[in-house]
Amino acid sequence: MKRTHHCNELRPAHIGQTVTLCGWVHSRRDLGGVIFIDIRDREGRTQTVFDPSDLPKEVFDRAAALRSESVVRVTGRVRSRPEGTNNAKIPTGEIEVMVRELEVLNLADPLPFQIDDPETASRVNEELRLKYRFLDLRRPELARNIRLRSKVAIVTRQFMDEQGFLEVETPILFKSTPEGAREFLVPNRRDPGTFYALPQSPQQFKQILMVGGIERYYQIARCFRDEDQRADRQLEFTQIDIEMSFIEREDIYALIEGLLKRIWKTALDQDIATPFKRMPFVEAMSRYGMDKPDTRFSMELADFTEEFCGSQFKVFGGAVAAGGVVKAINAKGLACATQGQIESMTELAKSFGAKGLAFIKVENGEWKSPIVRFLTDAEKAALQTKLAIEEGDLILFAAGEWLAACEILGRIRLYAAEVLKAAGKLVIPADRFDFLWVVDFPLLSFDKEQNRWYSSHHPFTAPVAEDIPLLKTETRKVRGQHYDVVVNGVELGGGSIRIHQPDVQKTVFEEVLQIPPDETKLRFGYMLEAFRYGAPPHGGIALGFDRLIAILCNTPSIRDVIAFPKTAKGTDLMTDAPAPVPAKQLRELYLELKVPKKE
Ligand code: ASP
Repeated sequence: MKRTHHCNELRPAHIGQTVTLCGWVHSRRDLGGVIFIDIRDREGRTQTVFDPSDLPKEVFDRAAALRSESVVRVTGRVRSRPEGTNNAKIPTGEIEVMVRELEVLNLADPLPFQIDDPETASRVNEELRLKYRFLDLRRPELARNIRLRSKVAIVTRQFMDEQGFLEVETPILFKSTPEGAREFLVPNRRDPGTFYALPQSPQQFKQILMVGGIERYYQIARCFRDEDQRADRQLEFTQIDIEMSFIEREDIYALIEGLLKRIWKTALDQDIATPFKRMPFVEAMSRYGMDKPDTRFSMELADFTEEFCGSQFKVFGGAVAAGGVVKAINAKGLACATQGQIESMTELAKSFGAKGLAFIKVENGEWKSPIVRFLTDAEKAALQTKLAIEEGDLILFAAGEWLAACEILGRIRLYAAEVLKAAGKLVIPADRFDFLWVVDFPLLSFDKEQNRWYSSHHPFTAPVAEDIPLLKTETRKVRGQHYDVVVNGVELGGGSIRIHQPDVQKTVFEEVLQIPPDETKLRFGYMLEAFRYGAPPHGGIALGFDRLIAILCNTPSIRDVIAFPKTAKGTDLMTDAPAPVPAKQLRELYLELKVPKKE
């Protein structure tokens, strides 16, 4: 070994010992002719001292010429820091190393940005940090995230092993079989014109593993989805992917609660309460306007459909007459919202299909809003009672079709919470985690444009047994055995009990989803075939691993917990991937490009 200790190891007990440290020049201070260099490695930092009166000139000069982030090896004696110069902020803050020898292992070029500055992440443009990811990774904050990620992966494997699961790798080169998102294709040189696809998830393989008798499978699996990226998504991401045989929903709940309990204990030393709350989809939408509700604060949606049927205010009365609903929330203390904030909320409502946003500000004992003059006393009284209206409140409305009205207010609720948080009127402790299971999702949703049903989750999800007879007649009412685990308004994962009877699966493919039989055969034939040879009842789940780590690290961005993330445009700024390939490579694949010229 080139070193005797790491940079977070030396304590007063080591005083007097001669030690060798290796690491990066974290910071340098010249004080009265003496040079102090903090040497940093993965574990931490140690102060080293170069005293010219006690060192060959040539060693001192080399130290004086060192640039930040150069790699060095120093040997010296540990001593107590002089009276009054201890640094209580770092574990090695009571000692320093009086250097005797310095070996410069590599001199660094001048840096594109500072690493020793705790504000780097907010001060330096993220693109620059992504281009120099190797430097960014040295920042203690990022290094801590990567370390926690490794720890959580290990504890996951331990837990799953204890529960009798086998870790099985499934292929990355798979077949094109859309589960929803667009896929990445890989041309096959051996049979020109054919393609592999990268898996969106190991869904089909894990189900086949159940048919193969594995019974309990898990994998920390890489998945690929060629989606136009929404904020904070990655084209490739990691899931804790799980499948089990001979189980019911409750078994998955218990397993995941146990796993998350272990992870929270290991990562944050926190005991989370189990079992988690359960909330049917309809309740989540009605009360919070989201299927992944943030239940850390109330501001719940109240329903006024009955009270406003026949309302003079046409928007409300009309919505009810058309079979829709009227809903409202009380953003307590938000009457102070600025014009700009009201406009933002209106835009948000419009982006979810509303024509506008009705609201009432309660200021100086008065209800201020153009709609107030249309409201009857009874309607006002109903608002007053159900929303417990007080001075300073802001009441926001949505009217129309149930799901749309809920969704609109759900978004507005989150926006209002952000504004209230920023104003210090809503305080949510950083260490509070509200877990819940959202259950009883509709098995199918209707696509009005395409005039057909599609799977809310994926086509392998089993209907709730008693709803199977409704599949073809009252499709809308069929509930799926699908569950999502949600924490603080974030969907941590989801899964389902699967269809294991080939005839039910065929009905779903062909009669409900209306996939033509030849296409079903082409895309899922091997699954239907496998199911005919003894498929056990089974189910599973996948947890978003990047998202999970981001929550544990209390960072809003999953890019902060992935060693080499891509940008929102899907580029790796460090390697410049994706990139063109030489014509020869294309010829080998029998591929010809027809790329329109860029402007
Ligand atoms: N394959 C699903 C997904 O990736 C999860 C599951 O159903 O287990 O979302």
